[in-house]
Amino acid sequence: MPIKESFRRLIGRPGTVDQRRHQRLVQAAGQLEPALQKLTDEELHGACDALREGSGPSGFGNAELAEVCALGREAARRTLGERPFDVQLLGTGGLLSGSVVEMATGEGKTLSGALAAAGFALQGRHVQLLTVNDYLAARDANWMQPLLALMGVSVGWVTQHSSRQQRREAYAGSVCYVSVNEVGFDVLRDRLCTDAAELVLGEPDVVIIDEADAVLIDEARVPLVLAAGEGVGDDIGAAAGVVAELSAADYDADPGGAAVNLTDAGIEHAENLLGVDNLYAVGQGDLLTQLNVALYAQVLLQRDVDYLVLDGQVRLVDDNRGRVADRQRWPDGLQAAVEEKEGLKLSERGQILDSILVQKLIEGYRTICGMTGTAVVVSEQLREFYQLEAGAVPTNLPCIRSDEPDRMYATTEAKEQAIVDLVAEAHHTGRPVLLGTQDIAESERLAALLRARDIKPAVLNAKNDSREAAIVAEAGAYAAVTVSTQMAGRGTDIRLGGADEAGHDRVVGLSGLLVIGTSRYHTSRLDDQLRGRAGRQGDPGGSVIFVSLEDPLITRYAPDVPDETPAEDGQLDSVAVRRHIDHAQRVAEAAWMSTHRTTWRYHQQIQAQRDEVLGYRHQVLHADRAALELSESCPQRWADLAESVPGPQLAEAARLIVLYQLDQLWAEQLAFTAELREGIHLRVLGRQDPLQAFHREAANAFRGFAARVRSRAAEAFEGATITSEGLDVGASGVKRPSSTWTYLVNDNPFGSAGDHVLRSLGNLIRGGR
Ligand code: ADP
Ligand code: MG
Repeated sequence: MPIKESFRRLIGRPGTVDQRRHQRLVQAAGQLEPALQKLTDEELHGACDALREGSGPSGFGNAELAEVCALGREAARRTLGERPFDVQLLGTGGLLSGSVVEMATGEGKTLSGALAAAGFALQGRHVQLLTVNDYLAARDANWMQPLLALMGVSVGWVTQHSSRQQRREAYAGSVCYVSVNEVGFDVLRDRLCTDAAELVLGEPDVVIIDEADAVLIDEARVPLVLAAGEGVGDDIGAAAGVVAELSAADYDADPGGAAVNLTDAGIEHAENLLGVDNLYAVGQGDLLTQLNVALYAQVLLQRDVDYLVLDGQVRLVDDNRGRVADRQRWPDGLQAAVEEKEGLKLSERGQILDSILVQKLIEGYRTICGMTGTAVVVSEQLREFYQLEAGAVPTNLPCIRSDEPDRMYATTEAKEQAIVDLVAEAHHTGRPVLLGTQDIAESERLAALLRARDIKPAVLNAKNDSREAAIVAEAGAYAAVTVSTQMAGRGTDIRLGGADEAGHDRVVGLSGLLVIGTSRYHTSRLDDQLRGRAGRQGDPGGSVIFVSLEDPLITRYAPDVPDETPAEDGQLDSVAVRRHIDHAQRVAEAAWMSTHRTTWRYHQQIQAQRDEVLGYRHQVLHADRAALELSESCPQRWADLAESVPGPQLAEAARLIVLYQLDQLWAEQLAFTAELREGIHLRVLGRQDPLQAFHREAANAFRGFAARVRSRAAEAFEGATITSEGLDVGASGVKRPSSTWTYLVNDNPFGSAGDHVLRSLGNLIRGGR
């Protein structure tokens, strides 16, 4: 172990840094403050310009970084009326040194991040500030714009509705605020350009990630997809029809709802319905895969928990946010199976042109840093997956929130009764309450129970981020009761007494906001995020989490609960139960990590292939690889054409032909791997590790990719119509899709239980015939 590493292990959690090392920076910035206060705005601007011009190739040293912080603080005081606290500058220092900085909710990360962005920009770097949604991208860019303008740093933002030209301009500026999805989709769309001038993104440089744990951990395994063309849907109708006919005796579903298998009787029943002799016979692989996919859809995916049906469409529920996941869908087969189950029209599907995992997207940047309320608990994962260090910045004022121990109940019914009683009790005094639920169905149920007690809660399951923000902003108002899933409204400040703080003192007198969790989340980090909604900036506040032994966390991950007799109201209070709940959460965390690792391993190889394809593409787009190859492969045709077609037109025709074949072959490779992955656990029949089998088959399929592009391009070139005007795209069969669309794939539909499902599927085969 290197010395530095062992030292780190001695002084703290591995993978964490002590942000106090930036203390000196903050002190130095403090010393500069009086002098800077005397400058005019022009002089301040001039000082920033001077810093930028003095920046050498190795970037700023300590003195310049201190100057950035001092200038930034002064600029913020003048433009925003907020003088950054020392702890905020500590955060800025951490970001500038490439760490993930932990700063509690309400400590002002937006400002810390903007100052860091300015620090990078003044060193001539291009910064993208990633937010979790479009609403926050626009909000933060507009909020920080005056500050950055005074420092001479240009700022832009991108949302779903930005045009290609607007995007190009925003990305070209020094600092761009954009949601992680949008930048990912732009990477994919740029991936299809046939002319370098059409690109909107430059080379990825610095990324500052807000809510970094959400982006880097929770959402990292979601592939972003670009698709085109019209419906070549999976015909899963026969399999779905069979599954709809099955009865409970035909399958075994595990009690936690994580796995389902056909029983022997079920297999026979299915064989009869389908009219096949043996589903496990060679050649029936596709049917068997479809049957299993349809069975998952039928038995495991629950309407209103895993998905909603809105306007005749299946809309996925985001397992991190517990609300409708914008633009998400399942892999095609499963999506079709759920649509069949609900009797809906099959949604449009197309050819997947390219896809990228958030984790891979982030890895492309030269400098990565981020900020969030909960980083230190995931420091090991940040290190494992991104080689990033995390460090905590202390709060400006001491946190005086009182976090009560969990209240434990034997049953959901008793738990919910107790929750409603507590809400009513607090509400009776006027104390604001924020109730954090697991999913939409639970929100609705609890809201109904509250209404039955004459309490009128604001329920947050709007699909509109800005409306959601407006509601959350009022959650600290006198007598407010707000019911919300964990992620909803993240990024919005909850001020005591309401957004305008009109009732501030009154609510302080009532001990501030009371946060109630209706269950533990699959990781304690999300519990902490929820608690963090109260007690911001030294406010009073309280939090308590209710747990029942019937919670999915327990039934799924630690069903063997201690045998305890509850009190009359159903409450449990023993060390054994308390330990058991912690244990369940640890098991869930471990399961989740293992899914993350598996997904990553499945994608790693595809991503490596993708890099190779992109390398090829880059040489075609930015250099003359296409012309070189085709003139070599088809010397006669090339010479003939060269007589009548001017050089640039011929080169462009060559480029369009090669790019077309390259993109087409890549889409075919992706389709192959997608199918392979869906069926791999059945194909290997238990003899080998599915991941290894997947890797082997995907690698085999990819072998000779470049040579195939070359020969297909040569063939197309021989038959293409090329005149002095250039390539006739339509007549030459290289017409590109006229429209594309983007979405996210939830390719772990069973959350952390996914592996379990696949494992039991493997067992089924092994134990089968
Ligand atoms: P976070 O992202 O850390 O939860 P925000 O950036 O949303 O916090 O800021 C929370 C609130 O604190 C905002 O309303 C902001 O205006 C305010 N704020 C931030 N920094 C300061 C400061 N130095 N002085 C006063 N108010 C501040
Ligand atoms: Mg924030």
